[in-house]
Order: sequence, then C-alpha cells, then structure tokens
Amino acid sequence: MKTVTGSNIIRVKSHNRQAILMALLRHPASRVELAKALNITSMTVTNIVNELLDEGWVCSKAVETAVSRKKAGRPRETLQINREAGYVFGVHIGIGTLRIGLVNLCGEIVSLTETQFDTSLSARTLLKQIASEIKALHQNSNVQDECILGIGVGSSGLVHSDEGVCVTAPSLNWKNVAIQELLQQFTGFNVVVENNVRAMAHGEAYFGQGQDVSTLAFIYGRVGVGAGFVMNHALFRGVQAGAGEIGHTVIQPNSGIQCRCGQFGCLETLVTQPIIENSLLDPKYKQIHDITNEVERLEQILRLADSGDIYVQEQLDKIANYLSIAIINLVNTLNPEQIVLGGMYAQGAEHFLPQLQDAVSKRSFGGLGEHVQIVASEGGLHAGIVGAASIALMKCFYKQTPIKNDKSQISQSHKETL
Ligand SMILES: [Zn+2]
Repeated sequence: MKTVTGSNIIRVKSHNRQAILMALLRHPASRVELAKALNITSMTVTNIVNELLDEGWVCSKAVETAVSRKKAGRPRETLQINREAGYVFGVHIGIGTLRIGLVNLCGEIVSLTETQFDTSLSARTLLKQIASEIKALHQNSNVQDECILGIGVGSSGLVHSDEGVCVTAPSLNWKNVAIQELLQQFTGFNVVVENNVRAMAHGEAYFGQGQDVSTLAFIYGRVGVGAGFVMNHALFRGVQAGAGEIGHTVIQPNSGIQCRCGQFGCLETLVTQPIIENSLLDPKYKQIHDITNEVERLEQILRLADSGDIYVQEQLDKIANYLSIAIINLVNTLNPEQIVLGGMYAQGAEHFLPQLQDAVSKRSFGGLGEHVQIVASEGGLHAGIVGAASIALMKCFYKQTPIKNDKSQISQSHKETL
C-alpha cells in the first residue's frame, strides 16, 4: 500500500488551496458551491477557507436569498478574494514606452505611471529608472511593504522567463539583460519576467476577454506584430521562447518588401501602424504626421475613415485582409477558442473586426473559423500593465509553489501555515 508522505500532503493541500483561490478569482462562491465545483470534500474546503479568511486573502459577505428571506433562515455566505489584501507591480517595457501600474489581487490597476524613454538608454539605466518609479508609486499608495507580493515585467524582445533574462531585444539594442536579477537588486522585491505580448495574452486569459475560455491566441500590433498563446490555461512559449513571432511569417515571399529581420514579405511589413502612415504621404494628410503620439495619430486616421475618406478606408481594409490571412493560418494551426486583438487592432476594432470575422469564418479549413470568437481586448493602453501584473499574481500568489523558508513566497505577515 502506498503511504502518503508529508511532502505529498503539502502538495495536495497546496493544490486545493490554489484551486479554491482560482475559483474565487473567477466568481464569488459559497463553501458548498466550491466543494461541488472542485470535487473536494466540504471539510477540506472549510479548513482551507478558514485559513484564507484568517490570513485575510479571502473575505465573506452575507447574501440574503429568497429562501433565507422566506424562512427567516441564515443569509447565504459568499466568499470572495479580498482584492486589497495584496498587490503587485506590472511593468510594461515597450519600444520607447514604459508603463508601470500598482495592481490588486483582482487585476485592477489602482495607480499607474507612463513615460517615454530614449531607446538608446542602457538596460541598466532603464531598470534603475523603473525601480525609482516603482518606489514613487509605492510611496504614494499607502500600501504596506508586506502587501507587495512581487513585480511582473513584460519586456520587448525574446525573453527566457525561467532565468528572467531578455536574451535579445533588437529595438532596444539589448542582449542578455538579466532583468530579474537587476530589478530584484534595485527594488528588494521578487521579480518575474515575460515577453510583453505573451504577458498581455496571459492577462487576457486571467483578467480580460479570455476568462471563460481555455485556449486563446492574442495578437498585438502597433510598430511591430506579435502573438501570445494560452493553451489549456497555460502560456505556450516554445522550445526557445520564440512562440508567437507571427510578425515574421512570410505572406509575400516574391513581391514583398524587406523586413527588419532580413526576410522579404513578412506580415510585419504589411499590417503595422507605420505601414498605414507611410501610405498617407499626400499633403492633405499632413495633419496626421504632425501628431507626435502614435495612439492619437491612429485615432485621427480612424476618424478620417469614419468621415468617408475612401483612400484611408482602403488602407485599413488592406491591413484587415493581410491580418485575416495570418489569423486563418493560426486557426488552422492551433484551433483556438478565441482570438483577442490588441494594440492598434483593438483601437480600430470597428474597422477591422467585421472583415476579419467574415474572412476567418469563410476561409478557415473545414469550418473551424465559424467557431472562433474574434474579439478586441478591452485593456486599451493598460493591457501591458495588467498582463505583466497577471504573471506576478499567478507566480507569487494564486499558483505559488509551496517552498518553505523561501523569500519569494508570501511575506512574513501573511505566512502560509502549510
Ligand atoms: Zn520579418
């Protein structure tokens, strides 16, 4: 007969605790509902829930139901995540744009800062700047040190998340930057690192459009194009962390222009914001190029299309057409439940979505596209912060592994009693 060892008990308990926290993150629920949904005994649920209530991670509220009202019975007790019991910082490092937010346990941004940076800055200098902005946000927040669970960083470039290293980010001239190690050293908090688009995909899966699906593909476009895949609720990274580089799938091998990667006819040479802007060089579009902010520039382009400018509409249609080819390829390769559009594709969703939905439903193999939901992210400019924060929330709280005496686990005042 197999004996249950101490470490197995810890593992099972940790698994159940994670399952309860994840269930409560999705929906508030009673103890009875949790036991039923998770298929664990009500005794186990009660023990773990009591711990979580004692530690302050979960709170309860009495809900008066029709039955309790009629029978003058006890109101039903619904449990929910105590959203203010812990926080993480989400750091989005884009190409020249830095966004940092303080985010609660439910993925809500409570304060944030946004700055532009010179892409010729050294990585060390930028990480020092990030540390000082985190310090300023923290000081202005009234959140105690022990309630900060960690920092999630979504960085541009190829990122090896296990080592917390950005292996290469050509747009920032970065090579082998030890983001995790340096930022931990500069801030004193635990740091987890992921590619920024992959982090956004993760954010959509846990706190955005993908909360009710298990498999999604997130596609981000602005200056470049990238994707992130969540499969069975987990990020898919590929063997060398390169999964999602759809910007460099070749769409026009013979007639295309050269991409920054060296190949010809990559998707990225066809569907980005600079591609639209470079097609609007007629003097009558000068006002667009005078706008310094890229998001506002696209807003102006979309306004022109809305006001009936046929030429601008054609440029947007061209983008939707090439993007639909990439999405059809994704649908035929991965068969996801949902495709979430981010960045400029979400900003211009009214223009892009109908054409994409039509093309994907008609042209995917065997009707696969008819079952795919194509939706726009609602995260707007903050999707990067929530995405980076979501990585930290899962690693440092919801799905943390039970390792005793590890500083990376919950802080002293909230120490687990495993
Ligand atoms: Zn390329």
